[in-house]
Amino acid sequence: MNTYERALKTWGKEPQMLQVIEEMSELIKEILKNINRHKDNVAEIIEETADVEIMLEQLKYCYNIHKQVAAYKEQKLHKIEQRLDDWSAQK
Ligand SMILES: [Mg+2]
Repeated sequence: MNTYERALKTWGKEPQMLQVIEEMSELIKEILKNINRHKDNVAEIIEETADVEIMLEQLKYCYNIHKQVAAYKEQKLHKIEQRLDDWSAQK
């Protein structure tokens, strides 16, 4: 059992899913500080990004959706690539 699975098993799915939300809100706050108040907070953005990635990994274990997320992400990146190509072609 890896650390993500251990955390879920030890602390429970609902508390960990609420933690996902909490960490996302912390990252949101740091991004807003950076943009709106021109704060030099890259260190905080790094920390909160890592926190969010850790929690998103737990979310994928919680719902057992690693493969589906990876597949959707691939599709989505392909669409973005096409949109970027269209965007470049317009110029
Ligand atoms: Mg945090």
